[in-house]
Amino acid sequence: MEYIKENDYVIIYTSGKKYCIKVVPEKIFTTKTGVIKLSEIIGKPFGIEVNNNFVLKPTIEDIILFGAIRDTQIIYPKDNFFIVSKLDIQHGFKVFECGTGSGALALTLSRAVAPDGMVFTYEKDEKFVKNSKKNIEKFGDINRVKIHFQDIKDGIDEKDFDAAFLDVKEPWEYLDIVYNILKPSAMLGIIVPTVNQISEVIPAMKSKFCDIEIMELFQRYYKLNPYRMRPEDRMVGHTGYLIFGRKIFINDNK
Ligand code: SAM
Repeated sequence: MEYIKENDYVIIYTSGKKYCIKVVPEKIFTTKTGVIKLSEIIGKPFGIEVNNNFVLKPTIEDIILFGAIRDTQIIYPKDNFFIVSKLDIQHGFKVFECGTGSGALALTLSRAVAPDGMVFTYEKDEKFVKNSKKNIEKFGDINRVKIHFQDIKDGIDEKDFDAAFLDVKEPWEYLDIVYNILKPSAMLGIIVPTVNQISEVIPAMKSKFCDIEIMELFQRYYKLNPYRMRPEDRMVGHTGYLIFGRKIFINDNK
């Protein structure tokens, strides 16, 4: 069994709401249903109930939604988790990402490549480099992530990547650079919020990538009432379009 320790991050689950807090013994946390003295949960097992609040171990989804500080648009779990599987990320992989943003995708990628892989992520804005570093130090393994404060138009320092992902405004401008740092047959993923951007990306991808797919994911939650099983009335209508392709080997000597 795993027990709650001082300075752990935990989720307080109460009446369908979640809060991600650090277990600082001197502090108390108050919810609608009561007070939790944090000193009193240290040494107790995860899952305990205190005044109708449940103390849970954060999942990667909890970390992205309730723990990490978001100062950029992020890739939400719906797309984020799919991307990691679609790119076939495995332990030992060397993965390229741009831009780092708040580190939401980097956190998920770094878990997937553990214990011996590495994520190399590039971010041109220093403010976002600092925030994403803090998020990854708090909630992930910073030894699995190298954050470069660098605009990729000035180049990418590493090569021979097993997979790459672009979450930038004009991905078509970087396809040549990314092609050169990927291993042949490796996957490239891209997210863009508008159809106009897809129209720019696809023609630029076609000469260097095959098996190109464009998709959009929808996630619909259901109400919990077993006697009136039906979807929730509201859902997130749009996050982004996902584009995937595989690097073609081009033999220049032919
Ligand atoms: N995927 C990230 C996440 O899940 O947290 C969010 C990425 S955010 C939407 C896009 C980021 O790309 C911004 O922080 C921006 O500064 C960075 N960016 C855009 N173009 C870039 C470039 N050419 N080189 C490096 N970073 C870039």
